[in-house]
Amino acid sequence: MEQEHIAIVGAGQAAASLAMHLRHSGYSGALTLYGDEPHPPYQRPPLSKAYLKREWTVDRLYLRPADFWSGLGVALVTDARVTAIDPAGRTLEVNDRTVPWSKLALATGTRPRTLPPEFSGLEGVYELRGLADAERLQDAIRPGRRLMVLGGGYVGLETAAVAVKAGLSVTVVERAARILERVACAETSDAIRALHAGHGVRILEGRSVVAVAARDGAVAAVTLDDGTCMEVDAVLVGIGVLPRDELARAAGIACDNGIAVDVHGRTSAPGIWAAGDCAAFPLAGIPTRLESVQNAVDQAECAADDMLGRLRAYAPVPWFWSDQYDMKLQIVGLNRGYDAVLRRRTERGESLWYFREGRMIAVDALNDARTYMAAKKLLEGGIAVALEEAAQEGFDPVARMRRPAA
Ligand code: NAP
Repeated sequence: MEQEHIAIVGAGQAAASLAMHLRHSGYSGALTLYGDEPHPPYQRPPLSKAYLKREWTVDRLYLRPADFWSGLGVALVTDARVTAIDPAGRTLEVNDRTVPWSKLALATGTRPRTLPPEFSGLEGVYELRGLADAERLQDAIRPGRRLMVLGGGYVGLETAAVAVKAGLSVTVVERAARILERVACAETSDAIRALHAGHGVRILEGRSVVAVAARDGAVAAVTLDDGTCMEVDAVLVGIGVLPRDELARAAGIACDNGIAVDVHGRTSAPGIWAAGDCAAFPLAGIPTRLESVQNAVDQAECAADDMLGRLRAYAPVPWFWSDQYDMKLQIVGLNRGYDAVLRRRTERGESLWYFREGRMIAVDALNDARTYMAAKKLLEGGIAVALEEAAQEGFDPVARMRRPAA
């Protein structure tokens, strides 16, 4: 029999977690990570925070020191271009070589949505997904410059916070009716908008770009659909990401907004798993793709277990966070289908509680880590919190969490 070889396409957080979990769970066969960047696996969240501010060095971004991987018996192939996978023949094509595998995991992540055509090919236009993007953007963050941020999601807002603190004048243009519309309630958007306004960031919502003027090949001015024309020195485009599922599609693996997997991380092709941002898995019966570190780690570990024959279902309580200025936004749960929102304030900060049919399903906590932790435990423990209960004046989520079940 041929030597056992688990190949992992991707070298981001999910791929790294998969590899580490396989080894820590006793897998002793060959194990290869194929990453298309020149770096060992690194953390992406600091790219729009501490790294962009130049507070962190590259080494600190690395999930493990570069030599850790060989010590773990993982062959890390950087600058790897995986161009095809063959589910029937159990091979992949990488850098013009054909490599056999016995099991394969796809942890290919996402890529930024295509740049709006008005911006393509222009100097001074930036995206932020990988380390190289962050390094280019660092150079654009210079006091006195005018930065336009296209997209009021996490990338855009975190970058806006870093840039305005660095002395740039910053305008955020969001096409949707409000910033963070895809992920949060109006109350959270309001709080974040006010935070940015307090630091001097201009936020224009419900606006889109209709024309871009260039000077010497570089972006120089942007016109919006209401006629507003802004001179700019740089534009950061943070308009969302798309799953990198093209290898899977070309191999005939089922995909629909990402690589379709079951609760164990199995794709439609025997012997092939997928995990992380690129994978859509059933959560409460609904195909769901989560773009978060929590998901990358936990789904990868579940897939790794399944690869080793340890069956367990992935049913997470998702969590997310964002740092902007001195505000920490922590989100737990998925607010999908919410029909009521309750605002709670404490001496520390505030939190927005989402309810569906009278039951709490998610919480956004703004500078309120205590409430976040309690809400996380309530959701993870399956403890039902009713709207009427949470709305009571003396409601304390920590005490609620500790109360024994009736
Ligand atoms: P995002 O959270 O999807 O936000 C993109 C925003 O841009 C959306 O509000 C989107 O509106 C808007 N938009 C789309 N097309 C536009 C256009 N042509 N003009 C103006 N606005 C437009 O994505 P992102 O901020 O680019 O982040 C990318 C990924 O990195 C996501 O997975 C995100 O979760 C992750 N990330 C997370 C964090 C964190 O958790 N702290 C930090 C950084 C990045 P529509 O929804 O209407 O399209």
